[in-house]
Amino acid sequence: MHPGIALGCLIAETAMHITAQQILVFVGKAAHSIQTQRDYLTDLDAAIGDADHGINLDRGFSAVLIRLPDVADQDIGTILKTVGTTLVSTIGGASGPLYGTAFLRAGMTVAGRFTLSPEELVVALEAAMLGIQTRGKSMRGEKTMLDALAPAIDTLKATLASGDDLPIALCKSVNACETGMRSTIPMLATKGRASYLGERSIGHQDPGATSMFLLAQALLDTLDT
Ligand code: ADP
Ligand code: MG
Repeated sequence: MHPGIALGCLIAETAMHITAQQILVFVGKAAHSIQTQRDYLTDLDAAIGDADHGINLDRGFSAVLIRLPDVADQDIGTILKTVGTTLVSTIGGASGPLYGTAFLRAGMTVAGRFTLSPEELVVALEAAMLGIQTRGKSMRGEKTMLDALAPAIDTLKATLASGDDLPIALCKSVNACETGMRSTIPMLATKGRASYLGERSIGHQDPGATSMFLLAQALLDTLDT
């Protein structure tokens, strides 16, 4: 045990790899967090969308929890691809295909793997982001989930390159994710339903950026316990 503090995060251990077991725990924690924050996410979507983001994601991740035991002894690629296909097939809104594609693309980069190095995690996250960008025809700065994910990946890469261990790097990355989430408040939405509001989308935090932060927190939480 190597207790340490990075930007307000208490790091209990210096794990160098992520295991398939931890990916299962991450997905479970993500589902739990989405369920707990379902009404908050839906309220955020009520302000600039159609008040269903929390409901959508909770439906999808609840279905994922049912499928998870089937892949409990499988490789990380299979686990992530199962999450992706389940989200795509159970969520009606835009976030289903977007998050679904993200998990599917991440899973493709780690097919057959039972552990991931920090570098492999970065590759998987970059594939996930590219999947969202391609599927959503979107880029950062448009008030979407990408505005939380992109700075998180940037920070993860930079802090790993500077020599930080994975838990510290992930902690800093989650802080950047939170800052990115908050950066959506003053943004003008140019993608998704919020873009229909034009200038009236300004002043509200994007629901998808918020759920992305919850997923990032769930991953950090997994490594931190
Ligand atoms: P819907 O908009 O169909 O009701 P949700 O409410 O579940 O779907 O999800 C809305 C979230 O999806 C937004 O807050 C935004 O973060 C994300 N989103 C919507 N369109 C795009 C896009 N083209 N690219 C990236 N993210 C998007
Ligand atoms: Mg919605």
